[in-house]
Amino acid sequence: MASLWSFLFLLSSFSMFACFSSVSSEENDIAITPINRDLYHSSSDLLEQINSLVHRHPDKLTMETIANGNKGYQAEMTVVTYSRSSIKDGDDRSKFRILLSFGQHGRELVTTELALRILSILSEEQFLPNVDRDAFNSTLDKLVIKMVPVENLNGRKLVEQGDLCERRNGRGVDLNRNWSVDWGKKEKDYDPYEENPGTAPFSEPETQTMRRLALSFDPHVWINVHSGMEALFMPYDHKNTTPEGSASQKMRSLLNRVNKDHCYDRCMVGSGGGSVGYLAHGTATDYMYDVVKVPMAFTFEMYGDSTASAKDCFKMFNPIDHATFNRVLNDWSAAFFEIFKTGPNHMDEAHSKAAASGQEKFVSIDEYLDGYLMERKNRYGKKIEVLDLGMQEIRTYFRLFLLSSVLLLFMFCSRISKSMSSRPIVSALPL
Ligand SMILES: [Zn+2]
Repeated sequence: MASLWSFLFLLSSFSMFACFSSVSSEENDIAITPINRDLYHSSSDLLEQINSLVHRHPDKLTMETIANGNKGYQAEMTVVTYSRSSIKDGDDRSKFRILLSFGQHGRELVTTELALRILSILSEEQFLPNVDRDAFNSTLDKLVIKMVPVENLNGRKLVEQGDLCERRNGRGVDLNRNWSVDWGKKEKDYDPYEENPGTAPFSEPETQTMRRLALSFDPHVWINVHSGMEALFMPYDHKNTTPEGSASQKMRSLLNRVNKDHCYDRCMVGSGGGSVGYLAHGTATDYMYDVVKVPMAFTFEMYGDSTASAKDCFKMFNPIDHATFNRVLNDWSAAFFEIFKTGPNHMDEAHSKAAASGQEKFVSIDEYLDGYLMERKNRYGKKIEVLDLGMQEIRTYFRLFLLSSVLLLFMFCSRISKSMSSRPIVSALPL
């Protein structure tokens, strides 16, 4: 009998709990902020705006769409190049090269709005306050800027379809954990859902495209733009330290200046791993610094609302009212133009990029080929299809060619050494 009572008691408390939790989940649903369509473009609208901007300013801007895919998954990426000279394909190697990526995480919509704002200012359709136009243009004459306005287009589309907390790509991989530096290492607080690093380094088409772009463009500055907090990060993300040497000090002094002038000392400055509260393995910025040898490699976090509930992702990662939205875009576009202005001052030192990080740049044959092929394709066509199969075949042929050359050389050398050393060897043998 007692067991029956306790069973009934358990049953009633369970149903009360279930009832209570369903009420609180309804409350959570109510508290979730939807995307503010008055402030934010849809990704297709944003890319359309950028497309028409490029067509209005062919003297400054060019654009290409890179398609890549594997295992039935396809990813398209738009790359916009800004160059004021007559050479528009970004091949002018004497210029200071800046590579920018926005929207690597789907839910961080405000970053892609910043991309559009920067392009509008570059094409002189919008203006920064208190800027001398001549000085502004002479600054920009020295630059080539390549910008990826929406790196993770497939993930972004999931967000637009209502999955407001999605940060990963269209098949659930975090594009900022899919790079090869310290890839796949898992911390105690590792979140297998949010931080899924993929099946291997560069398993994802988006990461492959970004890597090729970085290797062929070989930038002096890399900035990976995110949101969720206010921070100016430099390497490393995978350990609790910053690199040693003068290059590292230059990075830090540039960030301190940007923090003071444009973030009003609110931004966290330092290594991503040391400042953010967790270590991140396989990130883009660590790869750009360690492998591509970009002397100034950064991750910027441009906005965050720490008061938002964990499920209220649009509010947590993006300004939701008009005034904050404008303030954030104004401050951060000014920050970027400060970097465009002061970056070339580091030109001489930055040119000796290998020296900056204290060792020669080592890139594998595959990486070299990826960069090389990308550069050829950039030269011959605006609309690029990077076919994985084609790339694989070219790689295989190249490897076979290398192998046969080495074999031929070996045979040739061994013949020469035989004919030259046959006598001494024979005369040494009798004993
Ligand atoms: Zn992010």
